[in-house]
Amino acid sequence: MRRGSIPGSTGTVHPLRLLGDPVLHAPCGEATEFGAPLLRLVEDMFASMYAAGGVGLAANQIGVPLRVFVYDCPDDEDVRHLGHLVNPRLVHLGGVEITGPEGCLSVPGVEAGTSRYDEAVLEGVDAMGNESSVTGSGFFARCLQHEYDHLQGTVYTDRLRGLRRYRALRGARKAARDGEGTPRRHASDIV
Ligand SMILES: [Zn+2]
Repeated sequence: MRRGSIPGSTGTVHPLRLLGDPVLHAPCGEATEFGAPLLRLVEDMFASMYAAGGVGLAANQIGVPLRVFVYDCPDDEDVRHLGHLVNPRLVHLGGVEITGPEGCLSVPGVEAGTSRYDEAVLEGVDAMGNESSVTGSGFFARCLQHEYDHLQGTVYTDRLRGLRRYRALRGARKAARDGEGTPRRHASDIV
């Protein structure tokens, strides 16, 4: 990303991997090559996220099994958070646990109440290898936990139990059958 440029404006839009694709269900590896190749990946991830109308995206969602995620996400006070994090570690989860609506670009056509902490802090590096951290609350904390999960090989539907899980997986199968690719019931809830 050049200084002052819009994230994703020089990136390539990649097709999104969907629930059931093995790359989404295995832990991602640490990124070890920083600089140009990783900046290119981050650009492609922003382009792909914006094209799909999401607020966050993990690298394995475009088929790259590296610990990288991007976000352009509001918190509950409508403050915009824009950035990326490489090789993140979850260093704090706090506040109350809240069950709120959550969706995923890799599970189109589905949304389900999912329990998340109200505060999250992650530490890692940026695409150049410089130390970086991100702190989130409210919906942005939900986004950070969702993206971190992706890098662990966990999709949010894995966290659902009982009827919620049944309904979500049934909805995912139905959407896949119908070929529905771009549902927009709550675009801001899709990460
Ligand atoms: Zn997701």
